Amino acid sequence: MAGIYIHIPFCKQACSYCDFHFSTSLKLKDDFLKALDREIDLRGSLLNEQVIETIYFGGGTPSILSSAEIEGILAALDKRMLLDKVTEITLEANPDDVSYDKFRAFQKAGINRLSLGIQSFHEDDLHYMHRAHTSQEGIQALEVIDALGYKTISVDLIYGSPTTTDEMLVNNVELVANFSNVNHLSAYALTVEDRTPLKALIKRGMKKEVNEEQQVRQFYLLKSELEKRSFVHYEISNYGKDGQVSRHNTSYWFHEPYLGLGPSAHSFLNHRRLQNIANNKKYIDLLNKKEVPCFEEILSPTNKYNEYVLIALRTMWGIDVNHIHHNFPQFESYFMNQMSKLLDDGQLFKVDNHVKLSKESLIYADQVAMSLFVDD
Ligand code: SF4
Repeated sequence: MAGIYIHIPFCKQACSYCDFHFSTSLKLKDDFLKALDREIDLRGSLLNEQVIETIYFGGGTPSILSSAEIEGILAALDKRMLLDKVTEITLEANPDDVSYDKFRAFQKAGINRLSLGIQSFHEDDLHYMHRAHTSQEGIQALEVIDALGYKTISVDLIYGSPTTTDEMLVNNVELVANFSNVNHLSAYALTVEDRTPLKALIKRGMKKEVNEEQQVRQFYLLKSELEKRSFVHYEISNYGKDGQVSRHNTSYWFHEPYLGLGPSAHSFLNHRRLQNIANNKKYIDLLNKKEVPCFEEILSPTNKYNEYVLIALRTMWGIDVNHIHHNFPQFESYFMNQMSKLLDDGQLFKVDNHVKLSKESLIYADQVAMSLFVDD
């Protein structure tokens, strides 16, 4: 199985915490769409040997595009690749872009899964995060999507903002759970990344700092509220109901091949990892010259082992000890040694050949993984 990721590098406004690649100017949108078409032309054959099952429009904000533009991208993909086995086409959307007609047209174009960036239904949170939409628009967007009969809807929520009380968080979960078609939820702690407006605003004393204790508490509060409502916690930041998991994201975690198109997109092909240039103008210029806009990231065996440990530990399936044995024999004795210490002090537990995080360690997933890492 293989997937295609398409990065749409435009947003209406910059959220204060965001460190993804995007531009708030739409000046280059048409040139970008032409360049993307060229990139599909140049690189489309890279998945020829693979069965493509998922397509994912991420960003940025893909819903900023019109349905005709999304349709045009899908038609370009269809011309150069075999898409007859594709079962999941996801589009990330922001509530302020949602209207009945536009999203019905997306549906007709083939989009069958939506990932809606709600983050919160509370104005204080939305203001702190500098989101472009209001709380009311969040509710209306869910109503419209529900009425259109999208069967697979994922909602993004953010917890741990200094503005979010525990009651507000529970209320966010209740409001989402009112929509029975929402069967997937991604929940992220508000993180203050370097070089973001939020970091600068906190430094200047214009925004409150985030509080780690509150973030830990709200991680577990959210987990328990979602599990009460039959959402399965299958990855640190992801929950699914009725067997739903994001097929596209799961394929990343299991190292299935995917082709990333658009500025800043990553690809994983023939065990090689590639990254597209994260600059809209340079991406367009390179493609105008028919040059492929990406470079290869060379992963050493150590990088591959550390990455496997980090990713697997974050999932409910955990680390497969047999996988370490077969793929990383040079690190196996180190791994077994470290693993037994973590088992002894209760940070990990073992089921058959899989090691998983204990409930108390879930919030420290990355730190636990680091104690299994080897140095390059
Ligand atoms: S809409 Fe998404 S990609 Fe755009 S600035 Fe906000 S968080 Fe970042």
